[in-house]
Amino acid sequence: MGVVPTVTDHRLVVSEVFGPTVQGEGPSAGRRCAFLRLGGCNLSCRWCDTPYTWDWTGIGDSKVAYDPRTELRVLHGDEVLAQLLAFDVDTIVISGGEPLNQQRRLLRVVRGLVDRGRRVEVETNGTRIPDPELVDAGVQFNVSPKLAHSGDPAGRRLMPQALRALAGLPNVAFKFVCRSESDLDEVAEVVALYGTRPVWIMPEGRTAQDVNDGLARLADHVVIRGWNLTTRLHVVAWDDKRGK
Ligand code: SF4
Repeated sequence: MGVVPTVTDHRLVVSEVFGPTVQGEGPSAGRRCAFLRLGGCNLSCRWCDTPYTWDWTGIGDSKVAYDPRTELRVLHGDEVLAQLLAFDVDTIVISGGEPLNQQRRLLRVVRGLVDRGRRVEVETNGTRIPDPELVDAGVQFNVSPKLAHSGDPAGRRLMPQALRALAGLPNVAFKFVCRSESDLDEVAEVVALYGTRPVWIMPEGRTAQDVNDGLARLADHVVIRGWNLTTRLHVVAWDDKRGK
């Protein structure tokens, strides 16, 4: 689990700000956007595709121990806002790491974006109850609860209160990373327990080949269950290149 600098005012612990690119996953896949990626995560999924935001000891599949002194920066919210507004995009995706770990300090940036006509999407692992002010700002929440294959214990990755709160939001989608048909059974259990709808299934994969193979493996089963299927466009287009 990542340790990030302690910040208590309007500053944010940032991994990267980049764009223009496209949203790679879920209901907005393909939409032109810019990304704010925040540092730190309260989970440690073994196949995480952004380990440079939290893995300082090399416990993930990459086995790389990243250095927070080179990977993270502490930036004032106004500076982050200015960087995001400079991109010629109408959608900003705030991701991580786990961005809701900094959600109170994020409010200033989100309000600044919404006031200037930007759509804001937040990617979260579903373990944090969203701040009501973030909800009121009209944020779209893309929630990705983790399954057993993440390697995180159930007691850390599935937080009933948070999942139920997120499931009750007007602008929400739940994206599950799956490898096999048996993962879909696990998704069905989560949906039955916490009402996490609408469901989007997304193949795991860090290469275009892996993503496309996963889609082919899962597609029929997803459709039969009445769920949605999403690719990972940034992986297919750019092979998971950082900053894309
Ligand atoms: S919740 Fe997301 S950012 Fe955190 S370890 Fe898991 S995949 Fe990585």
